[in-house]
Amino acid sequence: MPKFFIKTYGCQMNERDSAQVAHSLIARGYERVETEVEADVVLLNTCSVRDMADQKALGKMGMLGHMAKDRPEVVFGFLGCMAQARGASLLKNLSHVDLVVGTQKFHRVADYVEELVARKHSAMAAVGDRGYNRMDDLRFSIVDVGEEAGSQETIREQQLAPRQATAFVSIMQGCNMHCTFCIVPRTRGAERSRSISESVREARDLVARGVKEITLLGQIVNLYGRHEFPAVAGVGDPGHKKSPFVQLLEAVHEIDGLERLRFTSPHPIGFRDDLIDAFARLPKLAEHVHLPLQSGSNKILKAMHRTYTAEKYVNLVDRIRQARDGIAITTDIIVGFPGETESDYEQTRELVGQIQFDNAFVFRYSPRRDTPAAEMSDQIDESVKAERNQDLLRVVNESARRAGERLVGRDVEVLCEGPSKTNPARLMGRTRTNKIVVFEGGDELVGEIVDVRVQQANGFSLYGTPVMQT
Ligand code: SF4
Repeated sequence: MPKFFIKTYGCQMNERDSAQVAHSLIARGYERVETEVEADVVLLNTCSVRDMADQKALGKMGMLGHMAKDRPEVVFGFLGCMAQARGASLLKNLSHVDLVVGTQKFHRVADYVEELVARKHSAMAAVGDRGYNRMDDLRFSIVDVGEEAGSQETIREQQLAPRQATAFVSIMQGCNMHCTFCIVPRTRGAERSRSISESVREARDLVARGVKEITLLGQIVNLYGRHEFPAVAGVGDPGHKKSPFVQLLEAVHEIDGLERLRFTSPHPIGFRDDLIDAFARLPKLAEHVHLPLQSGSNKILKAMHRTYTAEKYVNLVDRIRQARDGIAITTDIIVGFPGETESDYEQTRELVGQIQFDNAFVFRYSPRRDTPAAEMSDQIDESVKAERNQDLLRVVNESARRAGERLVGRDVEVLCEGPSKTNPARLMGRTRTNKIVVFEGGDELVGEIVDVRVQQANGFSLYGTPVMQT
């Protein structure tokens, strides 16, 4: 049976989409391998959110051209966001690429791969001893970047590793927010949500197979179902509506055996009282919210088409913190957005210092083709972006360090995910607040919830020892 290799760039949604593709190929008897040199099918699931991600995938596929020369029977494909944005143009400069599949067609990949493998084999048999010239005899191409109604329901199955404790459930696709820097509405289309029952069915199935922590995924996850499903009356207060997202959280929360529930990423818009209240009511909802801020300047937020103000964001963080003790807040921030003056940047810096995030991803603004911000006239010099990036990272690292140090000497609940990537002799897991903990322990702890006494913290990880149960 053919072997496949799939490499994923970008976000957790891409990881989840790759897991679906892998499942569909394994279900047809294909074997997954860890390196491209062993593979008969090489797939790159791409990201377009930053120029660097595009360039990485293009560079990787370019290098694979050598492999294609030696083994022209191998199928090479681009999947995902960059495939969606660039379509058939990807075939022009990369003559070994056979397959380009967009974001609404992941469920068709296995069919296309099978077709390409079969066509290549027949072409090889036809040329026989005369030998083949890849360009003439083995060049096939399939491009499918169309829209497909109902595609949000097709990311629904995944293989699990032995004792895998955490899993993602994709509950919606696309985004209607049109932030001016973002290519996602173009690559992933308009918002479409899975049904509550299908999302819960997948979560229940994962828990029955041993998963203890589920993360619900969507580009604007808290706006799940707003076009498809009605809000219902909230408990106690007839004027208080419960959004479809909170209804879904409640339904997943009910699953016996589920220990932790997370979601990512929410938008500050639509993070209403019913969702804040869910943190007070639903104990399995883990104490972490990743809440993208993007800028602390109202002028820049407006130019980004982020329809909240810095003051509303701060107020939201305060209310979330009041709802659940010790909740961790992390964020995304862009520096060097077009028109960002020193004073705008200072407002971001000040806000970040004030909120004291547990951690933050800081990005330099990178213009994306076909987005309004790329056309704005007042682009910022790269050296200024780099300076602001470094400066803001110092502020973020300081608050992340403090958040870690507060836990030294305390016992934290850790869900053990497996060996640490940096030191496989140790184990790693995450706290309920999503902090990485590295600790000593035997293989029997993988997939289990363990109390760990924290002995040391650096900016990004905690180090500790399991607490002996008496
Ligand atoms: S909310 Fe904005 S940044 Fe997030 S995916 Fe949608 S358009 Fe992009």
